[in-house]
Amino acid sequence: MTDTLRYTPVEDIPKIRHELGLAFNSGRTRSIAYRKQQLSRLFYLVEDNQERIRQAIFSDLGRPRHEVDFLEISGTLLEIRDAYDNVEKWAAPQKSPFSLLWFTLSPATRKEPKGVVLIISPFNYPYFLTLTPLAAAIAAGNAAMLKPSELCPASASLLAELIPKYLDPELVRVVNGGVPETTKILELRFNHILYTGNNRVAQIICTAAAKHLTPVTLELGGKSPCVVDPKCNVKIATKRIWWGRLVNCGQVCLCPDYILVPESFQDEFVEALKDAYNELHPTDPKTSGMLGRIVNERHVERLQNLLDNTKGTIVFGGEIDKEARYVAPTLIRDVKADDSLMSEEIFGPLLPVVPVKDLDEAITFINSVDEALSVYIFTSDSKFKNKVIDNTRSGTAAANDTILHVMGPSYMHAKWIQSSLCS
Ligand code: NAD
Repeated sequence: MTDTLRYTPVEDIPKIRHELGLAFNSGRTRSIAYRKQQLSRLFYLVEDNQERIRQAIFSDLGRPRHEVDFLEISGTLLEIRDAYDNVEKWAAPQKSPFSLLWFTLSPATRKEPKGVVLIISPFNYPYFLTLTPLAAAIAAGNAAMLKPSELCPASASLLAELIPKYLDPELVRVVNGGVPETTKILELRFNHILYTGNNRVAQIICTAAAKHLTPVTLELGGKSPCVVDPKCNVKIATKRIWWGRLVNCGQVCLCPDYILVPESFQDEFVEALKDAYNELHPTDPKTSGMLGRIVNERHVERLQNLLDNTKGTIVFGGEIDKEARYVAPTLIRDVKADDSLMSEEIFGPLLPVVPVKDLDEAITFINSVDEALSVYIFTSDSKFKNKVIDNTRSGTAAANDTILHVMGPSYMHAKWIQSSLCS
């Protein structure tokens, strides 16, 4: 099922931006009570429409219901609730620490909303990655223009329908479209741009923002490695790597992208990966309903190209059905640094195993690839774990798990973003 997305006429976009500015200048977002009211409405937008959200994501990404409930619905509700509960604290002026230099004064830093924020979101989590930044923008007292990904037409249409029903329609506007519409948006001046997506488009965003000296927050992609110590719990390691690789059909920025194992351990680990996969997917994932689909044919072709050009050995998988947007979970071994699979973030259900001599070579390998979003270390030896953490750079790191480390209360997305949306 494919939904038709109504694109916003390009000529209307400057007017929408202008109206957002007028609404912001009305001053109503300065009230914390108003921000809380909008956040509670945003919460009910998701809560009341769970079934429609599930259907839209199924239409766009074929994603199983339990995966939608877990991150798109529960995760988004949790983030909005956190913003609601903390907005007073986040917005409160920060008093300067006592100093003899100014003890007769009471200096404080006020948190001022920036104005009109542009939020450009990607296809892979069409609700979480649009509404969590929106919660941050509302909590910080801004007006917002949302540009959802056109690659998820059902989700983008539903957002365009629901946002004006639930939120102040003058302060939050959805603009839908593809490259021409986004190009028009980027000609305009915003007070902050939040962009989540691929690194190539990030350069376009930054170039456009530079013309207006607009501050930008970027949430980009990367290749997140797994480093495996033969002394790890192999059963747990292999299951958790597969779960992380296959959730949302591998289309998660934090997916484990490739596995580094010692050469002497590759055979045993590959066998264990086969067993773990069979346990997780006992029936054909093409028909089981347990695996999502690739977002569109262009991305299926991209993955096909990576597989066609690999010099590694395919252990299992490899089936591709372009029309059904299906790419089978595929394990590839003996992959080298110059392989097609190492040329870009995979963003699909392909899992390469890269044999290395030892841990030092694994660390050199990781440092030779662009900085990772996360490094996953599978070991029961804390010295091994610390050696990887101390000698590599990544946004986050986790031991003996994948992805879930950013879903706990210690990493709240909206909380982190809102701090950049006030000055
Ligand atoms: P996408 O193709 O949906 O594009 C993202 C947004 O950029 C869309 O709204 C799209 O309309 C816009 N866009 C596309 N081409 C453009 C152009 N030429 N000019 C202006 N705007 C344009 O999604 P994507 O970028 O493929 O998303 C996947 C990427 O996002 C991956 O690299 C993933 O790792 C990354 N990502 C990062 C995070 C994070 O938190 N770091 C989260 C999710 C996704």
